[in-house]
Parts: sequence; C-alpha cells; structure tokens
Amino acid sequence: MRLVLVGPPGAGKGTQAVRMAERLDVPHISTGDLFRANLKNETELGLEAKRYMDAGDLVPDEVTVAMVRDRLGDPDTEKGFILDGFPRNVAQAGSLGEILADKGLALDAVVQFEVDDEAVVQRLLGRGRSDDNEDTIRNRQQVYRDETAPLLEHYADQLVVVDAMGEVEEITDRVFAALGKG
Ligand code: ADP
Repeated sequence: MRLVLVGPPGAGKGTQAVRMAERLDVPHISTGDLFRANLKNETELGLEAKRYMDAGDLVPDEVTVAMVRDRLGDPDTEKGFILDGFPRNVAQAGSLGEILADKGLALDAVVQFEVDDEAVVQRLLGRGRSDDNEDTIRNRQQVYRDETAPLLEHYADQLVVVDAMGEVEEITDRVFAALGKG
C-alpha cells in the first residue's frame, strides 16, 4: 500500500506510522525523522533545515521534495510506503503526484488524523524534543492550519478520516478499519 498520513503536530502520526508499517510490511518514511537524522550527522541538508525546524516553519519545498524523491528511489519502497509528514502543502502534493506518476504509481489512500489542538500541546510539551517548546508548537499548529489543512481538499477523493484521540492500539484498529483492512 502507498499511504500518506496527514494531521497536526502531536496527532500521533509517527507512532501509528511505525505500527502500520510493521503490519503492512512497508517502509515508514518520516520527513521530520529524515531531517533530524541529517541534523545529527551534520550534513549540509541538516544544517540548512535546522533553522526552519527550530522556528517550526516548513523547510523549503525544493529541499524537502529532493530528499523525498531520493528516498522514494530506494528499492524498499517498491512494495509500498507510508509517508508521514509529507506532503505538508499543496505544492509538495503536486510534486509527489509527479514523482509517482513518473513511476506509473498512485496513492492508495490519505489518512487524516483528527485531534484536539489543546490536548496535543500538552502531549508535545511532555515529549521533550528540542522543537517542542510552546511557541514553536503554536507556530507549527498555525502552519498546519494555513498550509497543510488545504491538502485535505486536494485529496478529498482519497481521504480516510480517523479519530486520533484515545489509546494507541485503539487508534491503530480504527485506521485499519477505515482502510477496509480491520
Ligand atoms: P511535527 O509533526 O510534530 O511538527 P515532524 O517531525 O513531522 O513533527 O516535523 C518537524 C519539523 O520538520 C517541522 O516543523 C518542519 O520544520 C520540518 N518538516 C517536516 N516535514 C516537512 C515537510 N514535508 N516540509 C517542510 N518541512 C518539514
């Protein structure tokens, strides 16, 4: 399966993506994780991404899209993939469409994680990641509303909406049920 996960910061996409990837036996591709790995290894890409991540802004599309295009060229993605945190705006969605169309592929579904903004701020503050301070979180939520939420319309035909408040196991069950694989 080729899936995209969409939801505001702290919606639990990463947690669910790991579980889904295991069950579907496909790679989990998180752009946030890819950026953090680059940062840790002090690559040029990592250093470029850092200031945007620290502010809670989107890393420029050309940087992000090139990184994803590269990753989707790896042979392990031939059996499918779960994209977590990409695309995050309509332009990135267009680029993803082109990358897939070049391979004669399309997405199977876009899973939207619905959560309560206030509840997730507390969850994120407890996580302790360096970009998880209250100002950055509020900016990431604003960026989500302004730039990422319009994707939901873009993907209206493929959208599968899941209530992402509750226990981890319960939410995984909801995702697979919503995908018709319950
Ligand atoms: P969260 O969903 O909690 O905000 P992520 O790990 O998905 O956390 O993203 C962390 C940061 O990485 C974002 O705030 C942004 O700076 C950068 N980032 C991740 N994915 C993208 C993307 N698709 N486009 C641009 N920037 C991104």
